[in-house]
Amino acid sequence: MLTTGKAILDVANEHSFAVPAFNISDWAMFQGIVEISEETDAPLIVAIHPDEVKHIGPDMITGIISRAHRSSVPIAIHWDHGATYDEVLTAIQYGFTSVMIDGSLKPFAENLALTQKVTDSAHVVGVSVEGELGTIGGNDSYAEAGAAEIIYTDPDDAVTFVEQTGVDSLAVAIGTFHGFYPAHLKPELKLDLLKEIKDRVRIPLVLHGGSGNPDDEIGQSVKLGVNKINISSDIKVAYHDKMREVLADTSLREPNSIQPPCIEAMQEVAAQKIHLFDAAGKADLY
Ligand SMILES: [Zn+2]
Repeated sequence: MLTTGKAILDVANEHSFAVPAFNISDWAMFQGIVEISEETDAPLIVAIHPDEVKHIGPDMITGIISRAHRSSVPIAIHWDHGATYDEVLTAIQYGFTSVMIDGSLKPFAENLALTQKVTDSAHVVGVSVEGELGTIGGNDSYAEAGAAEIIYTDPDDAVTFVEQTGVDSLAVAIGTFHGFYPAHLKPELKLDLLKEIKDRVRIPLVLHGGSGNPDDEIGQSVKLGVNKINISSDIKVAYHDKMREVLADTSLREPNSIQPPCIEAMQEVAAQKIHLFDAAGKADLY
């Protein structure tokens, strides 16, 4: 069924697992992700970045919502890295049930004011809000483009931010990085910092950009209170690596012969994440 980000994440918080938020930008990938979530009985957040929304168009969002309604697992549809208040209104108009407002590159007071404004409006219509504090950094086309360094989330700021904005979940910078991990940085999560933030704010915490971090650290972060983990590069690389291989056979021209093996390769990676996050079988809790 279609549900909100808050409804999905509050159960994950209570039962100490993380819901994967898979970034989707075409129909075959979307179908493949829903199928593997249903097969593993795992709740799902379908994340769509504004650039991806532009690519697929609002009519496909209607299709995604309709598929979510008749899914055997709870699904939230999440606007990833909203940059402005206006963008969030567009997301709400399209039928998203969860939005992120990312003011993390703004000064603290500005980030707080923007996030508060978004939360005040989104909550009126029952849409959940994720904020971000600290700088995760990244070298992919998404998120904090150009922010090459990680600025770790300050626990005192996190308490003030959560209290004053009323966000439903918070993305934190604890040592993950969007896209490929920079060679000069060692991928290492500050699990003590995560624990301190979680002890004080209690709400679901979110990890972005965990591709470069070792699985055992990601697994520990789930036990310490991370309840949503964004996965984008990993599934797209699996999908397109397989597609390059398949397309080596130049006689192929039908999408229904080219795409299925690529979807399977993507599903293998998705299933590994679902198990790592301890989300398999958790749809029964809803
Ligand atoms: Zn992100």
